[in-house]
Amino acid sequence: MLVDGRSLFDLDRKARARLIQPVFQDPFASLNPRRRIKDIVALPLAAQGTFSRGEIERRVGGILERVGLSAAMGERMPAQLSGGQRQRAAIARALVLEPRIVICDEPTSALDVSVQAQILNLLADLRRDLGLTYLFISHNLAVVEHVASEVAVMYLGRFVERNETDALFRNPRHPYTQALLESVLTPEPGKGVPDIGLGEAMPDPSNIPPGCRFNPRCRIAVERCRHETPTPMVRPPAGMVECHLA
Ligand code: SF4
Repeated sequence: MLVDGRSLFDLDRKARARLIQPVFQDPFASLNPRRRIKDIVALPLAAQGTFSRGEIERRVGGILERVGLSAAMGERMPAQLSGGQRQRAAIARALVLEPRIVICDEPTSALDVSVQAQILNLLADLRRDLGLTYLFISHNLAVVEHVASEVAVMYLGRFVERNETDALFRNPRHPYTQALLESVLTPEPGKGVPDIGLGEAMPDPSNIPPGCRFNPRCRIAVERCRHETPTPMVRPPAGMVECHLA
């Protein structure tokens, strides 16, 4: 894996931490319940072993303010914060080392709907102001369409389609991507659950089917799909799809 042309494996652990940081899904589980918020946010700096106490305090105060948490909140324990405030603290911890890349793993799915938009807007502001790149993992297609500039669709551990967001949502090429987009529930009464024709075969990562791994569920599979693995077909400038029939 290359970042800016450099292999991640050539970097030591601390250098990788300065480059890439995570925000996890559940802020009720990702923050140490026995530490104050400001100590949690300071930990990545302390672990580097190169920052003075004054520099750590300055950076922690600055990033807490940047994510919308007051100095008083920094003195609190995680249990004294709401879900949205905890996720702000988790974002502060991820950004305090000024990384280039943040892996956001379903960062809003554990939050109340009313708070989700606030966190998404905060992430968007931070990306713009700090020049960040997000690797944003989500099942929520509306969120993906809102935040992403490029989307990769994964099935059973492989990317099966990749494209710029507009192109992918306007013209999905892989049958799994098409089914995902068709499966979005609408708030219209009486419409029920959409029939996306994927059948009953549930994906099993411990028993990957031969050929195309999507073939037991694919509504347009042909005989070739059951024994021949499709190779990625690249479609410039950003597109890729892995399907014999695409
Ligand atoms: S390769 Fe075959 S089974 Fe796989 S997605 Fe394409 S049509 Fe469906």
